[in-house]
Amino acid sequence: KEKNPNYKRILLKLSGEALMGEEPFGIDPKILNRIALEIGQLRGIGVEVGIVIGGGNLFRGQALSQAGMDRVTGDHMGMLATVMNALAMRDALERANIRTRVMSAITMTGIVEPYDRRRAMRLLKEGEVMIFSAGTGNPFFTTDSAACLRGIEIDADVVLKATKVDGVYSSDPMKDPSAMKYDTLGYDEVLEKQLGVMDLTAICLTRDHSMPIRVFNMSKPGALVNIIVGGNEGTLIK
Ligand code: UDP
Repeated sequence: KEKNPNYKRILLKLSGEALMGEEPFGIDPKILNRIALEIGQLRGIGVEVGIVIGGGNLFRGQALSQAGMDRVTGDHMGMLATVMNALAMRDALERANIRTRVMSAITMTGIVEPYDRRRAMRLLKEGEVMIFSAGTGNPFFTTDSAACLRGIEIDADVVLKATKVDGVYSSDPMKDPSAMKYDTLGYDEVLEKQLGVMDLTAICLTRDHSMPIRVFNMSKPGALVNIIVGGNEGTLIK
């Protein structure tokens, strides 16, 4: 079963917070190593892996602008934060002997390669894990939108959104004991019910290009591999 993955190419979205682990800020190396191990398992069964990393563990443009900073400057800082996270993730992957490249939507000569779709697709085929950093390269977007955009561009089979909860709920399961988990959802349902899984830009984009999204709990060991081999983890939006 494990030799026959359902998905050949995935786009994994890791939020900045997912890298924080137990730390109050920044990056928890233990978490990076665990994520690297799970990505190694995917590579082991031949899955091509693209990753988009968030930056919320370091900076978010919106929070900075609420504190008085110019929004666009804040967004630039947020995008730079995703590059730092990408470098940390690459480091952990390479220490686990997984070949990895980081590309960036913003050119940063000497640190990361500029994003190039055709090159990225070729490297994916050659077995490199590709980390796409700096979001979309534009302010007023999020890394969720970047993940959906890159997922569509590289022709991934699915966008996998790693979260700390076990899928999409009708309301916040931490606050509302009657919250119900959805197994599947339509794009329009997500929009109508304002479920807040991803920002609306990301949902609209995936809807227009029929790109399925699976929201799952990355802190559950083995969940990622289970999805690949056809397991029913979290919530599927399609
Ligand atoms: N960001 C941006 N454009 C993008 C992606 C991200 O301006 O295409 C900025 C934005 O300020 C965002 C920050 O980078 O708040 C970090 O990304 P995000 O909040 O999506 O990270 P996550 O919540 O996934 O950790």
